[in-house]
Amino acid sequence: MRKLNFAAGPSVMPMEVLEELQKNIVDYHGKGLSMIEASHRGGMFEEMYDECLADFRSILSIPDDYDVYFLGGGATLQFTMIPMNFLLSGKSADYTRTGSWANKAADDAAKLGNVNIVFDGKESGYTTLPDPKTIKPTDGSCYFYLCANETIGGIEWQEFPDTGDVPLIADMSSDMLSRPVDVSKFAMIYGGVQKNLGPAGATFIIMKHDMLDKRNPGLTAYMDYAKHAKDKGLYNTPPVFSIWAVGLVLKWIIRNGGVEGMLHNATVKSGYIYDVIDNSSGFYRSPVDSRYRSRMNVVFRCPTEELEAKFIADAQREGMIGLKGHRSVGGLRASLYNALPMEDAASLAMFMKEFERRNG
Ligand SMILES: *Cc1c(COP(=O)(O)O)cnc(C)c1O
Repeated sequence: MRKLNFAAGPSVMPMEVLEELQKNIVDYHGKGLSMIEASHRGGMFEEMYDECLADFRSILSIPDDYDVYFLGGGATLQFTMIPMNFLLSGKSADYTRTGSWANKAADDAAKLGNVNIVFDGKESGYTTLPDPKTIKPTDGSCYFYLCANETIGGIEWQEFPDTGDVPLIADMSSDMLSRPVDVSKFAMIYGGVQKNLGPAGATFIIMKHDMLDKRNPGLTAYMDYAKHAKDKGLYNTPPVFSIWAVGLVLKWIIRNGGVEGMLHNATVKSGYIYDVIDNSSGFYRSPVDSRYRSRMNVVFRCPTEELEAKFIADAQREGMIGLKGHRSVGGLRASLYNALPMEDAASLAMFMKEFERRNG
């Protein structure tokens, strides 16, 4: 029996996509070879890749003056590539410190240039975000950086700040395609695919083409976005398997109502869990500011760490895995990505009520 997989990443995939991969892994649609055996230059790979990029553009209505492609190296490589390209010497970039992922990006950028911290959630234990309406980027800042959804802390920007002339850059690793996003408000959106879009390996890059005019000179080849943009990410060998699977996930998203459909499902699924927390008279506790609750990663606590350990063990016996909070923060976390079936979220909510009844 398939597990109910609440892991934060790598994470659950749509069953239909796994079956399609299985069906075609040896012989891709009768071509006599596997997609992962084919050259990444021309032929069956590029045909599939072009369709994948076209679907990506259509799902998010990405404007024509944006480049879209995939790289390797995970989202983490972008923590370095972004400042290497766009943090100019003698100038500075704005960063928000909102939790593990934004902080890692800010720390890496600070090694390469001047960083202004526009918001630091440290005092709250990274349980809240600034009101986007109050955000003012620094004059002359090279860019403004944020993490759309803090996967570990469980907080998500519900609306994004208007940064005017300062290019807005967002890490959307863990909430990409879980809701509509107005891409034209961003200079760059990027993320690892292994949360919401497919198996680990590829990192999606959506970048306004004119950002390339603003980059540092003297970059080495792989670190230079212009090299990748020029050839839709095929400057070097792309993560072929990951891209193939992402292409299938994109088609699955289109069949299931696109980003509006994903937002509807995410709202219902996270609603099941938050409702149990809110109606538990304090047995379960959500540590995050309710205005910024993540629909993708629901973080919660039980009255004691012993009960949390019991929760994880009891859940495991019911086939529910991946519910342990990140080792840096403890507690519990249910990740409810696009591919998590509605009924799995409902089963978790029922289990939570039963666990409270037995242990409350
Ligand atoms: C998982 C994650 C990352 C790191 O991704 P890698 O692909 O492992 O480098 C970065 N940012 C966010 C928001 C994440 O959830």
